[in-house]
Amino acid sequence: MNVLRVVPACVLLAGLLAVSAQGADKIRVVTTTTDLKALTEAVGGGLVEVDALARGNQNPHDLEVRPSLMVKVRRADVLVLNGLELDQWADVVVQGANNPKVIPGAPGRVDASAGILVLEVPTTRVDRSMGDVHPVGNPHYSLDPGLAPAVTANILEGLVRVAPEYRAMFERNRAEFLGRLEPALRGWSATLAPFKGAPVVVYHAQWAYLLARFGLTQVGTVEERPGIQPAPGHVAKLIQLMKDEKVKVVIVEPWSDYKLAERITQEAGGQVVLLATGVGAVKGAETYLDAVDYNVKTLAKALK
Ligand SMILES: [Zn+2]
Repeated sequence: MNVLRVVPACVLLAGLLAVSAQGADKIRVVTTTTDLKALTEAVGGGLVEVDALARGNQNPHDLEVRPSLMVKVRRADVLVLNGLELDQWADVVVQGANNPKVIPGAPGRVDASAGILVLEVPTTRVDRSMGDVHPVGNPHYSLDPGLAPAVTANILEGLVRVAPEYRAMFERNRAEFLGRLEPALRGWSATLAPFKGAPVVVYHAQWAYLLARFGLTQVGTVEERPGIQPAPGHVAKLIQLMKDEKVKVVIVEPWSDYKLAERITQEAGGQVVLLATGVGAVKGAETYLDAVDYNVKTLAKALK
């Protein structure tokens, strides 16, 4: 009887070990944002286990650095950063994590913005002491699906640096993802084509890449400068501008001051539209393609 009872226990234990070994074999990736998590999963497929430090509905500009974030980075084989100073707080996390695999210059560190043509680069010197959170240009490129090929290429190179034996699989996964992205992109362009040149106001300058991709025009921002709440004079000017330009849409983020945005549209006309600032930011934006789809359809509906 004893033998019979021991055997199943051994089998069970062996099974558990196999499961944990499988998990341990995966390349552990930490990304700062949920968009980068989704794009890393698209390239890494079953070979990676990905965790994002910021949640989709959190403002990635100012994430509170907590010990739990350092614990995640301590175990990481690869760290994927947005760069362009969006996720500068990650430097503090990396220092606290004490993980040589992802320190600056290490093979496991990926700057997903490499090679991106940066929009809204300031023409005068801007630094953070002025409060501007876009001192080196607009960092929100991941919202433009047309840049996903470049971003996934950067991620692929990073994964290959730590696991060169899987290059062919990463390339196949990426090609499969881009194969789904391309027809979707044609569809989104067609959906927004009737609104080419339409004027749009945004709360935070988050949407430059998305708007440029689909030919919409940002005519103003609620914030005076990126990250800086407006003074009354700025709001009054914006309301006048919206009336003059017949702006139909004020795009807000989950952490925007909704009341202010609504007051502006009450005076100036148009409507407040909440878009997905990243994967998981709003319901219906659970994958990268779904998040873009949500934004395109919501914009098209509001611009009608
Ligand atoms: Zn920003």
